[in-house]
Amino acid sequence: MRYHNITTDDMLNGDGLRVVLWVAGCSHCCKGCHNPITWDPDGGLPFDRAAKQEIFDQLDKSYISGITFSGGDPLHPANSLGVRELMAEIKEKYPSKTIWLYTGDSWENILHYPLMSYVDVVVDGEFHVEEKDANLLWKGSANQRVIDVQASLGQEDPRVPVLHCGNYAQRYTETKKPSGLCGCQD
Ligand code: SF4
Repeated sequence: MRYHNITTDDMLNGDGLRVVLWVAGCSHCCKGCHNPITWDPDGGLPFDRAAKQEIFDQLDKSYISGITFSGGDPLHPANSLGVRELMAEIKEKYPSKTIWLYTGDSWENILHYPLMSYVDVVVDGEFHVEEKDANLLWKGSANQRVIDVQASLGQEDPRVPVLHCGNYAQRYTETKKPSGLCGCQD
């Protein structure tokens, strides 16, 4: 697995203050993606021991709510095993911290992935520039969904996801996303 950045005290990619791992590699090629530099799985830096420790140092802080995996696409074949192993280690070491995952894949295609047992929230789907709305909560276009993974997997038919939140925050002006930070959101 390779990555482009680790950002800290992030308020824009999930609930609370978070550490965000921005991985390299995405094959969705969404029109309007503001971060095509992340598409190349050979781009960025190797995710090494120092990078992992940087994440753990953040998760050690009591005020950090958890980690968000973004990119790029954490479920790109170049990343999925490394992401799964890192998630397993984090859940073991920090069971009270939440794990969010942004992916261009659709929930229906990924719900059976073993790593979903570690994930609290998935934001799924490719970015559709035609459905772009800067006021959406935690996502860039209206087709994407913010999914409560464990509630969804607990249903008789997990293919119909339970949403973690509505499309808009009640006071969205305080939480709306800036444009162009991540692949999966505009
Ligand atoms: S918007 Fe996200 S899923 Fe789409 S090409 Fe960019 S990084 Fe990939």
